[in-house]
Amino acid sequence: MVKAVVGANWGDEGKGKITDMLAEKADIIVRFQGGANAGHTIVNDYGKFALHTLASGVFYNHTTSVIGNGVALNIPVFFKEYNEVVSRGVPAPKIMISDRAQIVMPYHILFDQYEEERLGGKSFGSTKSGIAPFYSDKYAKIGFQVSELFDEELLKEKVKRTCETKNIMLEHLYHKPLLDPNEIFDELMKYKEMVAPYVGDVSLFLWNALKEGKEILLEGQLGSLKDPDHGIYPMVTSSSTLAGYGAVGAGLPPYEIKQIVTVCKAYSSAVGAGAFVSEIFGGDGGEFGATTGRPRRMGWFDCVASKYGCRLQGTTDVAFTVLDVLGYLDEIPVCTGYEIDGKVTTEFPTTTLLEKAKPVLETLPGWKCDIRGIKKYEDLPENCRKYVEFVEKHIGFPITMISNGPGRDDIIYRNK
Ligand code: GDP
Repeated sequence: MVKAVVGANWGDEGKGKITDMLAEKADIIVRFQGGANAGHTIVNDYGKFALHTLASGVFYNHTTSVIGNGVALNIPVFFKEYNEVVSRGVPAPKIMISDRAQIVMPYHILFDQYEEERLGGKSFGSTKSGIAPFYSDKYAKIGFQVSELFDEELLKEKVKRTCETKNIMLEHLYHKPLLDPNEIFDELMKYKEMVAPYVGDVSLFLWNALKEGKEILLEGQLGSLKDPDHGIYPMVTSSSTLAGYGAVGAGLPPYEIKQIVTVCKAYSSAVGAGAFVSEIFGGDGGEFGATTGRPRRMGWFDCVASKYGCRLQGTTDVAFTVLDVLGYLDEIPVCTGYEIDGKVTTEFPTTTLLEKAKPVLETLPGWKCDIRGIKKYEDLPENCRKYVEFVEKHIGFPITMISNGPGRDDIIYRNK
């Protein structure tokens, strides 16, 4: 059976922790989209790790971590991370890389930087990891699949052709140094050496695993609101962040995805630019994003965005995370609606309307204590349970897990 762990919001919801936790009972963990542009922070017996490309299952001996075809694979970053994990005492993870995954090329990263420079203040807040140029090339059909590394003649010819096009842009639009196709080819040969032992037909591997009754976990990156179709376009990422895309980005039958765990944070936070209705201005922004180190923007829990985010994911279970950090507040405002042009709505609008939305806040009493270490739902303070139940009623999806700390065991299960 296939389970997906995905985000309801803008990313950084704590998906890494939930995946790491659920991976204990899984056989295979698959990354199906995105690249090294976001990170998952995982705290376990080996220490604290920020993973960007490796699947969060790498900490268990019994799991295979898979890079699906939908991923933007930065090969040197992937192996740097792999080596770091191993050097810190984690047993060498079993990994498999799809022969259909495409490669983040060195020039994708350059183009990302050059374009941000060119756009200046009008930029999309890219992390400059080459993700947008990578997916643009993929869909323009000038990307490089991992499988292409193994046909040197064709590869050389394609690198030459691609550099010709890229160099026109470099010369006339960006006024930057030109690409040398020989250098790029040599770099790709190094990539080939690195990936060769791990490359395989992932969709076939997963198909066979399902027939053998194996448990597969799909690990999403970022959240619903960063989806290029359903998110806050254009301040989105370049690959779909939705569980539905898991079927495509891993190569699985869609009907096999039986459980969709949508991770939803007990308050709102976002990294980078874009409309963020429940934002608290002048807050201390005490957290920092795992990959970019860019400060997170903080906001009150947003029922409108989260209900929408959960709906688009096809949520069967909500994992409600980071609830413990609200313990110090006397009272907690929650955004239950958006006021747009004088009308209140609870449905998430398109970006142009979103820019005009003002939050409608309702205030709940705080619980004023530390809830870490609590294992049973009934043992949570009454006001804390009321907060959970208030949110659950407004989003309309069952909260079956509550995370009250960063560790694997900081979890409260709730039967619904
Ligand atoms: P991801 O990209 O969705 O995996 O999220 P990140 O890893 O970027 O951000 C989540 C942060 O919250 C990490 O630093 C986690 O260790 C931490 N975290 C996850 N769940 C909890 C929780 O329930 N309580 C607290 N205090 N921290 C948590």
